Amino acid sequence: MTFAPNQQLNCCIAWLESSVTEHHRQKVFRVIPQNDEQVEIINSLSNHMQVDFWQPDSVTLVRPKMQVDFRVEADKSFEVENLLKENGVEYRVLIDNLQAALDAQFDSKVRTTGHSYEKYNNWETIAAWTADIAAQNPDLVSRSVIGETYEGQPIYLLQVGKSGENKKAIFIDCGFHAREWISPAFCQWFVKEAVETYGKDTVLTTLLNNLDFYVLPVVNIDGYVYTWTNDRMWRKTRSKNAGSVCTGTDLNRNFNAGWCTIGASDNPCDSTYCGSAPESEKESKALADFIREHLSTIQAYVTIHSYSQLLLFPYSYTYSLPSNYAELESIARAATKQLTSLYKTKYTYGPGATTIYAAAGGSDDWAYDQGIKYSFTFELRDTGRYGFILPESQIKPTCEETLLAVKYIANYVLEHLY
Ligand SMILES: [Zn+2]
Repeated sequence: MTFAPNQQLNCCIAWLESSVTEHHRQKVFRVIPQNDEQVEIINSLSNHMQVDFWQPDSVTLVRPKMQVDFRVEADKSFEVENLLKENGVEYRVLIDNLQAALDAQFDSKVRTTGHSYEKYNNWETIAAWTADIAAQNPDLVSRSVIGETYEGQPIYLLQVGKSGENKKAIFIDCGFHAREWISPAFCQWFVKEAVETYGKDTVLTTLLNNLDFYVLPVVNIDGYVYTWTNDRMWRKTRSKNAGSVCTGTDLNRNFNAGWCTIGASDNPCDSTYCGSAPESEKESKALADFIREHLSTIQAYVTIHSYSQLLLFPYSYTYSLPSNYAELESIARAATKQLTSLYKTKYTYGPGATTIYAAAGGSDDWAYDQGIKYSFTFELRDTGRYGFILPESQIKPTCEETLLAVKYIANYVLEHLY
């Protein structure tokens, strides 16, 4: 093990210090606009003050009857409440004091300052973990670098599985959106389960004997680092945009799947900015290059996001249904049933466009159009009580239940290789 003893602690103190002023007394509101007029009020609200949309991803995606969660600066929350009240828009305060919620997210009982599967690990710790887990399990895990980020960080990929001839593979990635911390936690958990239960859990053992799993623990490394050092609520990459003061591209709008046609923004200052071109980001390019190079083996693509408790499949960039819609629908139904069986966590499933909203440039649609016919997006816990700042005490149950669904999908794929 190569843990730097105080690495994580130092990081957390720095993180707390930098975020104290920033998020103090900020609030997260939930509104369900009843009609176009009320959608208009939310629109005008976001035009007049800094509003950070948690769900949907952008104000442009807000429609009547949709659950809308957004974060407001402390000094503006009174104004927002008044505006909503005056216009008869019903609202709830989901998080009354964001800083208190941010402090409460580190509620893990685990007492280590190094890597832990039941804590949120910073990038340094995760990077060291990728090396350690490969070194400790040479017969099951190997690490490679598939590219580097805008800021020059190596993008690590773990190949997990027993070596064998002509094996097919499943690709799983985490950490597209920087603030969705539960996502990288799942990728780490998945690899842990693989190495700890190999030879014990019959389903997982069969899977690892017959398939390889390509696990990309954090795609948007620069953004993830930034959520630890500067702004916990950051979503996009950290690339500079020519001719704009605003930073970053939404990686999940940056793929060549109806790119920037719907549910994405061409304004670099928006949280759903699609980038200057498909795969303009080094991270999406590295991921897409890897998948293109391994298309003959990759049978399924699984991408992990949060939050909302959804299992989505293509399409999101069009309302048209994928050709194997019935099959994807039945896989999603069975996978979510497995997931729910453990802790009764309710999931909704369906094609992205009709289940949440139309949004172009997503990696799941892109992978599907490359010919990977089993393509899924998970939106993990919760449904808004904590949103992106899910407490560490929920990492274990969230990962356990999600693993059941992923195992179901992988097993289905193994029985339906193509
Ligand atoms: Zn996301």
